[in-house]
Amino acid sequence: MKTMAQNIKPLFLALAALNLSCQAWTVAPINGGIAQVTLPDSDSRPQASYLGHPVLIEGQSPHWQAIVGIPLDRPAGTEYLEVSSPQAARLAFTISHKDYPEQHITLRNLHMVNPSAAELQRIHQELSEERQDFAIFDGRTPALADMHLPVQPTALDSAFGLRRFFNGEERAPHSGLDLQAQEGQAVYAPLGGRVLLSRDLYFNGGTVIIDHGQGLISMYCHLSRIEVAAGQNLAAGAELGRVGHTGRATGPHLHWSVSLNDVRIDPSLLLDAGQRQQLTGHH
Ligand SMILES: [Zn+2]
Repeated sequence: MKTMAQNIKPLFLALAALNLSCQAWTVAPINGGIAQVTLPDSDSRPQASYLGHPVLIEGQSPHWQAIVGIPLDRPAGTEYLEVSSPQAARLAFTISHKDYPEQHITLRNLHMVNPSAAELQRIHQELSEERQDFAIFDGRTPALADMHLPVQPTALDSAFGLRRFFNGEERAPHSGLDLQAQEGQAVYAPLGGRVLLSRDLYFNGGTVIIDHGQGLISMYCHLSRIEVAAGQNLAAGAELGRVGHTGRATGPHLHWSVSLNDVRIDPSLLLDAGQRQQLTGHH
């Protein structure tokens, strides 16, 4: 196995250095996005949940905030964060609504549009495993502000949240970002974490899922090669695999999903302005 130092590329180091000068981000709370909820001051790290799932808490004693993932199908209105420790409290916050555009995709491989009974069984089994992974809440605190793009993209293929139609049939909305990149390009862990899954899946192709702690889970799909094993601890910037077009993919790209409190959110919201610019093509 390669050492971490060999796996970290100069580009990643340059980006990491750049990030040190950046301010903490703020985002508008929308469906498919993130709400930042300020918690009452306390000496110990509070615990809170949203829609029954524990949420990520960041900060330093006595100042804390919850970083809450909002489901795509949540309407505009008032939401509630349930604080359980050190003192029970119910905190209201407001979200606004974003309409996500439609995307129509033509697939020639009809097994990817209407899978057989045997294929469906495999798909359901893999989906339930994926869901279990996304629901994990590990106590480690992720270095959220250090989040980086996992690959140097040539373009943004498909944004997060698109309402998807495969050969005219509506399927689940796009739960991640598609980063256009070349076949074989290296994919890096954008934050440190533990590998939960690393293998070939029916729709997702070569897949790696990483647990970064406190319910922040990320997934990388359509890989042509996987270079990490389940259970392995990864440092930020460690190479996890290579870009490919395995599974349900029309061409080489990296599908990148990010989940908070078991909710898939737009990964670009966790990037700083400089990193986000790389997605819009303003190099
Ligand atoms: Zn995708």
